[in-house]
Amino acid sequence: MSSTSSLHDIFLAARHIKDLALRTPLVPSISLSRRFDAEVLLKLENLQPTGAFKLRGVLNWMTAHAQTTLEKGVTTASTGNHGRAVAWAAQRMGTHATICLSSLVPPNKVAAIENMGAKVKICGHSQDDAFIEAQRLAHDDGMQLIPPFDDPYVIAGQGTIGLELMEDAPDLDHVFIGLSGGGLLGGIGSAIKAINPHCRITGVSPLEGAAMIASLEAGRPVEVTEGATLADSLGGGIGMDNRHTLRLVHSVMDDYCQVSENAIGSAMLALFKDDKMLVEGAAAVGAAALEEHAFDIQGKRVALVISGNNVDPAVITRLYAATNH
Ligand SMILES: *Cc1c(COP(=O)(O)O)cnc(C)c1O
Repeated sequence: MSSTSSLHDIFLAARHIKDLALRTPLVPSISLSRRFDAEVLLKLENLQPTGAFKLRGVLNWMTAHAQTTLEKGVTTASTGNHGRAVAWAAQRMGTHATICLSSLVPPNKVAAIENMGAKVKICGHSQDDAFIEAQRLAHDDGMQLIPPFDDPYVIAGQGTIGLELMEDAPDLDHVFIGLSGGGLLGGIGSAIKAINPHCRITGVSPLEGAAMIASLEAGRPVEVTEGATLADSLGGGIGMDNRHTLRLVHSVMDDYCQVSENAIGSAMLALFKDDKMLVEGAAAVGAAALEEHAFDIQGKRVALVISGNNVDPAVITRLYAATNH
C-alpha cells in the first residue's frame, strides 16, 4: 500500500469497517447556516459507538492484520479516543487489548477504557513511560501496537468519512477538519480530492501545540511545546519519524488556520445551545474557525467534521456559566 491513500484503499476500508463503524449522518446546522448565510452541514462522528471517528482507522487496521497477527492481542498508550477505539474494537474483532496508562491518568478515564472492554496496565508516571511499556508488550509479548495516525490503513479508514461526504454532498464547496497528527485530514482529503478536486480543504488547529502546522512551515517534523487547550484531542506531536501524514496533508490541504481558546469555547457552547449537541473541543474547531476568521463561505455548501464527543459535561457547564446569556 502506498503512503498516499488511493480511492481504492478507501473503498476497501469502507467495506472492512461497515459492520462495526456507523455510517454517520450529514445534517444541516440551521443556526450556523443562518449566521453565515451559507449551507453549513455537520458530519456527526460524535455518534460513533466510541464517541469519535478513530474507530474507523482502528477497525481498518485490525481487519488488514486480522489473518496473521492479532491473536496475541493489541496495545496502545493512548488515554483518549484512539485508546477507546482500540479497546472497543479488540473485543468485537475477537482479540484482546491492553491499554498502557500512566499513574497520572484520572480514574474516570481508566474506568472508561475498562468499560470499553480492555485491560488497563498502569505503568510509570508519564505518558512516555506508558508508551515504553506498550512498545515492550509489542516487542516481548508479540502484541500489535496500533498506530494512531501515521499508517496507511489508519489513514484509509479515516478516509471513509470523505467518501461518505462525497456520497451525501458531491458538490461540497469547502470542508473544515480538525488537524493534529493528520490521519483524519489526510484520509478525508485523499477521498475528496479524488472525487471533487474543487472542494476546498481547511485544516484547523488550536493556538496551543499545533505540531502539524509548525512542521508544514518548517518542511520537516518539529516538536512544539504543549499547553492546556479545550481541544485536548488535538494535542501531541506528529512523530519525529513521521512517514506518511506530513507529506499527505501537504498535498491535499488547501489552507489552514488556528483558533483561540475563546473561539473554541463559544463554538462548543453554540453547538450545545443551538444545535443541541454535546461535542468536545476538537470537534468544535471548524465552527470556531468560521467565527474567528473571515472565510468567504457566503452562499456556499460547507461541511464541518464533528469529530468526537469525549468531553466532561462539567466543561460545558463552566463555559455556560462564564457567558452572559
Ligand atoms: C484524533 C482526533 C482528531 C485529530 O485527528 P488526527 O488524525 O490526529 O489529525 C480530531 N478530533 C478528535 C475528536 C480526535 O480524537
